[in-house]
Amino acid sequence: MNILAIGAHPDDVETMCAGTLAKYAAQGHKIFIATATSGNIGSARHSMEEIARIRKQEAANSAAIIGAEYICLDYDDEMFYETKEVRLAFINLVRHCKADVIFTHNPEDYNPDHELTSKIINDIAVMIPIAHLKTEEPPHDVIPSIWYWEPVNGMNFQPTDYVDITDYYETKMKMLNCMESQKAWMSDNYASLRGDEERFFDTIRILSEFRGMQSGCKYAEGFVRALDGMRTRFTERVLP
Ligand SMILES: [Zn+2]
Repeated sequence: MNILAIGAHPDDVETMCAGTLAKYAAQGHKIFIATATSGNIGSARHSMEEIARIRKQEAANSAAIIGAEYICLDYDDEMFYETKEVRLAFINLVRHCKADVIFTHNPEDYNPDHELTSKIINDIAVMIPIAHLKTEEPPHDVIPSIWYWEPVNGMNFQPTDYVDITDYYETKMKMLNCMESQKAWMSDNYASLRGDEERFFDTIRILSEFRGMQSGCKYAEGFVRALDGMRTRFTERVLP
């Protein structure tokens, strides 16, 4: 299968579903990691151009660890709005990846870029085969299965399905470690992490252990399956 994970910012995918992607990759599936924005406000220490370049490189390095292709749609961080051009860019992306399965943010999240990315993916899933919606890539005759990953603090999120990532936890942390620029940003901006850059990784470990505890393994990632009409073509389990 072709798997697309799309987050609003570089590091969103790594934080919430890198273990699952690493597991898919090990099973021989083709993986694409995409971001709607370049993350170009994610530093008080660099210019917007510099931090965009740094974060895209970090995301590409992380994707390379599992042999995934990284694609950035390059919209502005925190100033991401839905327009006709944005919708077509998302359709083009999914057609390019010929995605069978898509992972993205939960519709309810703390960040507007996250929520909009999730909404657009859900909206366009049924538009991929439509010939009159012209994009650079031709229509692709598959409506992908959509899965939501959890908000970063797990708030208001009850997974419908779990993936045991115990054997891929180290790979996930390696991918997260590529996000060097965000360690300082996280500890500068989140009160619970203040003054301790390594605590960001602690929060990921705690969440992985918590979902592991619920599903009977050491480390897991939890997802909610989108069940809206037309997006349920798989009756078998598609998670790895
Ligand atoms: Zn984000």
